Amino acid sequence: MDMMGNKQRRVLNIKAVLKRNWLLMSTIVSVVLGVAALDSEVSGKIGLRAVVYYFSTTIIAVVLGIILVMTIKPGVSQTAEHIDRAGTPPNVTTVDTLLDLLRNMFPENLVQACFQQYKTKRKELEPEKLPVNSSTVPPLTTTIMTVMENITKDYKIVGTYSDGINVLGLIVFCVAFGLVIGKMGEKGRILLDFFDALNEATMKLVQIIMCYMPVGILFLIAAKIIEVEDWEIFRKMGLYMVTVLSGLAIHATVCLPLIFFVIVRKNPYTFTLGMAQALVTALMISSSSATLPVTFRCAEENNCIDKRITRFVLPVGATINMDGTALYEAVAAIFIAQLNDYALDVGQIVTISITATVASIGAAGVPNAGLVTMVIVLTAVGLPASDVTLIVAVDWLLDRFRTMINVLGDAYGAGIVQKLSKRELERMDLTSDMDVANP
Ligand code: ASP
Repeated sequence: MDMMGNKQRRVLNIKAVLKRNWLLMSTIVSVVLGVAALDSEVSGKIGLRAVVYYFSTTIIAVVLGIILVMTIKPGVSQTAEHIDRAGTPPNVTTVDTLLDLLRNMFPENLVQACFQQYKTKRKELEPEKLPVNSSTVPPLTTTIMTVMENITKDYKIVGTYSDGINVLGLIVFCVAFGLVIGKMGEKGRILLDFFDALNEATMKLVQIIMCYMPVGILFLIAAKIIEVEDWEIFRKMGLYMVTVLSGLAIHATVCLPLIFFVIVRKNPYTFTLGMAQALVTALMISSSSATLPVTFRCAEENNCIDKRITRFVLPVGATINMDGTALYEAVAAIFIAQLNDYALDVGQIVTISITATVASIGAAGVPNAGLVTMVIVLTAVGLPASDVTLIVAVDWLLDRFRTMINVLGDAYGAGIVQKLSKRELERMDLTSDMDVANP
């Protein structure tokens, strides 16, 4: 029984397209702003330390996520029927995948990048990857495939360009653009102010659309799941959530504290406790950017971090340092591959780790932004971007926890950069004392 009419479904999908475009806009703006700030507001040494910290902890998070998802295998079926179906991966080689990644990073034409990249790949993959109504496919898989196919079909009615965007290419462009604006000094101010205002406007729009979007999608999928004869999907989704949550927990209680202790030589758990209010706020509102005022206060008042450090490391971190998001992107992409019985080779796993890092950098600090940049990871290894819909229903919960870890990672970063920059800070203090003495 079809519990939702075509018209309602189409309305939901139009909202989904709008949401994705606005989130993409906010991603572009936040990357330009974050990178511009990198260059203009702090001394090179402090900035470099922060960036080294951001990259290393993000990569640790991604590797941790990959190890967990490959061990727990949440998307792999246990029934013999399902295993029989394995084995027709799309004809995309590792070299193809890596070359595609490179090609996508440097689009020939920026406008074209917004429309064409994914369409050709999609045409090749769809017939093999969506065997709807095939007699060899178990009812659960058929149901998921039907939901996906319906959603995809409806997207085509409102325009395919949402799926066709080469997000990776746009992000590379934005990084370069942000660097240039940052170097322009006063002349670049007008552009910075423009992006700042655009950032605020898109964040507000995204929040409005986000309020009701997940509920709509949840009901859309729930209506189909009711017809499912076996409950395998719940086992898989449950295991997927356990994988993401345990990865986040290990990163927050072992990896980050260990790095902090080795460098700062202070009790990391007391530091985490000092950030408690910011972490609870992140859990409530799922946005590292909106949590920033509380993060500042906790870092400066409870953990005594210098304002010159927090005011640079925390806002840039809220935009580009997202350990929780990176871990989640890697786990989710491999989970989706497992659901599709799509065997990943070593090259593709390396591609997932690189693209998950890039995708987390590109995600804005707003609710569900990680879902949008997921497209980069999925398309890089030849999985359909529309498969994101498979994990949308549980994203409202996972988003809260990964945002907490994003905020915690930024705070630890501020503590570590402060420790490493002690000498520069003292020198700056000395210079300003001299300026006061000899005005
Ligand atoms: N909500 C996350 C944040 O604000 C981003 C994401 O969706 O992963 O940090």
